Amino acid sequence: MRIKFWGVRGSVPAPQPENVRYGGNTSCVEVRVGDRIYIFDCGTGLRLAGENLIREYAQRPIFAHVFVSHFHWDHIQGFPFCAPLYNPQNSFIFHCSSRMRSLRQVMEEQMSSPYFPVRLSEVKGQLRYHDIEEGKLPLDDMQVQTMWLNHPQGCMGFRLETKEGIFVYATDNEPGDPVFDKNVRRLAAGADVLIYDAQYLPDEYAAGRRGWGHSHWREAVNIVMESGAKELVLFHHDPSHDDAVLDRVVKEASNYYPKVRAAAEGSVIEI
Ligand SMILES: [Zn+2]
Ligand SMILES: [Zn+2]
Repeated sequence: MRIKFWGVRGSVPAPQPENVRYGGNTSCVEVRVGDRIYIFDCGTGLRLAGENLIREYAQRPIFAHVFVSHFHWDHIQGFPFCAPLYNPQNSFIFHCSSRMRSLRQVMEEQMSSPYFPVRLSEVKGQLRYHDIEEGKLPLDDMQVQTMWLNHPQGCMGFRLETKEGIFVYATDNEPGDPVFDKNVRRLAAGADVLIYDAQYLPDEYAAGRRGWGHSHWREAVNIVMESGAKELVLFHHDPSHDDAVLDRVVKEASNYYPKVRAAAEGSVIEI
């Protein structure tokens, strides 16, 4: 299993010189299992993932599964800029809950006048939409488990169980609700890689970010230790946290748990 980070930022892109090592694009993580492609979220990092697929596949058709955790801007804004979506020989299956709205409707609304000049109907790839709710779903030769997380308007966490290892993507989650706290630990149990929301510093969170739907590195460390996950990847970095802040976060977190890193745009983890 190969995990590649195309966008690691939360809330809004933050492309500026002091963020260049960890990156400024919003949420998008690509997982390869053999030659199969699974993409998590369509933040602005999806543009880069799309360019990379075009380079890699050249004239060959692309097929990918895309999981969308929720519809906040930082998780959908890359969609209209993902070039492979416009090629009729490529096909994509989008997996998403339609509890709030269907993904198709969300994309139609996002790509409508006066917000964007290209309509969803002009996206000529073969797009299919698969409605998912909390539960387990067999997919290819693996199992996908989904769970709701604690976030305004909801957010879904994903666990991929493959022969090569277990991958968990749990972003946009606020601690403090007993049911959701238990859910996220169940989702993370024994994972080889746990990607988890660490938007705030613990002090920032306590001093005025409660109820905003995000977590901090100290809670991320608690989850990795209590769930028996192996490697912790801090994700969804706050736009105001530059490289120096994130270096300090990793240093502090590693005092509690050694196998921790902050997600960096362009970096790869192999299991
Ligand atoms: Zn987000
Ligand atoms: Zn969100």
